Amino acid sequence: MHPSDQKGQCLICFAPLDDDCALFSLLYHPPICQNCLHRFEATSGNFSVSKKPLAILYHYNEFFKKVLFNYKGRDDYALKDAFLANHLSRLKKQYASHLVVIAPSSEPDNSRRGFCPNLAIARTFTNDIFTGITKKHFYKQTSQIRRELVKDALKIECGDRLWGRKVLIFDDVITSGSTIKAMIGLIMPYQPESVEILVLASSHPARFAPDKKRSFHYRLLAALNIKRCKRLD
Ligand SMILES: [Zn+2]
Repeated sequence: MHPSDQKGQCLICFAPLDDDCALFSLLYHPPICQNCLHRFEATSGNFSVSKKPLAILYHYNEFFKKVLFNYKGRDDYALKDAFLANHLSRLKKQYASHLVVIAPSSEPDNSRRGFCPNLAIARTFTNDIFTGITKKHFYKQTSQIRRELVKDALKIECGDRLWGRKVLIFDDVITSGSTIKAMIGLIMPYQPESVEILVLASSHPARFAPDKKRSFHYRLLAALNIKRCKRLD
């Protein structure tokens, strides 16, 4: 039994929540304390993968890494409620009409721990979930399998559910983006209305920042600047 199954304790550090007088805590009653909330380090800026908007909530710092390890490696199911504590009400509204597509995880690991980590977190903000993208065979992305081969290691079933839907791909951590790119490749043939991505954390969020030199605004500003320079000549 998780020590914080006794109500009123922070899911992460087990500190009593009764002492928490912050306005956010009084309004939303998050299951973690203010101290732990602040140790999730928020990212800022716009991100994208394969030209699809990507929301990255946190930096993959030591705190996040430890909480994720306790959740996935030590099978602490109660921590499913810890990651989105700060975002839950917004996500419920923002993605109320989306179909949430879960990034595939290792079946042997899920069997051992008795739950699918991404699925358990997604269920905290939606009931409209698609789990039809799976791994063809067991592999760990950190193993010698080259990242670009990930696309050949995934398959999709029951993709008809994606037709005309607003799709949100959900994953816990984005590293190279190869899994997300492979998922987009499997999803697009079913012509969803839109595709967005939500991930909890990245160790290098800047890697997914839009390429300014290619963006419309950058090219527009560059063109205007050239015209102004010509006029000054
Ligand atoms: Zn805490």
